[in-house]
Amino acid sequence: MKKTIREDYRIEITPATWRDGLSHEQMRELLVELEKSVRRHVDGLDGVTQRWTTRYECSHCGLEWEVLTAWQAKGERYRQDEHSAEGEPVCCDKAIAEFRAERGLPLLDEDVVAYRNPDRPDVLLCREHGMGWAGLRPLTSEDLPDGGICTYGRPSESECGRDVLAETGGAS
Ligand SMILES: [Zn+2]
Ligand SMILES: [Zn+2]
Repeated sequence: MKKTIREDYRIEITPATWRDGLSHEQMRELLVELEKSVRRHVDGLDGVTQRWTTRYECSHCGLEWEVLTAWQAKGERYRQDEHSAEGEPVCCDKAIAEFRAERGLPLLDEDVVAYRNPDRPDVLLCREHGMGWAGLRPLTSEDLPDGGICTYGRPSESECGRDVLAETGGAS
């Protein structure tokens, strides 16, 4: 039968959240201070462990930092274009441009005005809303002689509705 075992008893101490504006170094100093005062005042301690969580986000757009794997960079459904390489971010134009500049790779095609979903031809996304989504086909203004409206969010109040050609200041 299933037997319940309780072990590894401990207390976690969390600094007040108003300190969130501090840097990593300042937070670590704060933890050291907390640890010292715990040790000074509490008997029967075995260990005090400092812990924190690390996560990565894009400094440009704030989205979670995600990059292409080697096989994604080779696959048409994932990569931005044939110059995409392993480690290329997927979140936004600026992160991709930065990555490519560091490696001397050709920048994203600046003529791209919108993206179409090959599986759902009624879906058209402006540059902002199509950027970074896997499997979309980039379109230039020549692919859209009659222009087009971004269908992002349709049908809801947050629908983009932007004219994908107007956004670029008339790229042609
Ligand atoms: Zn980004
Ligand atoms: Zn849009």
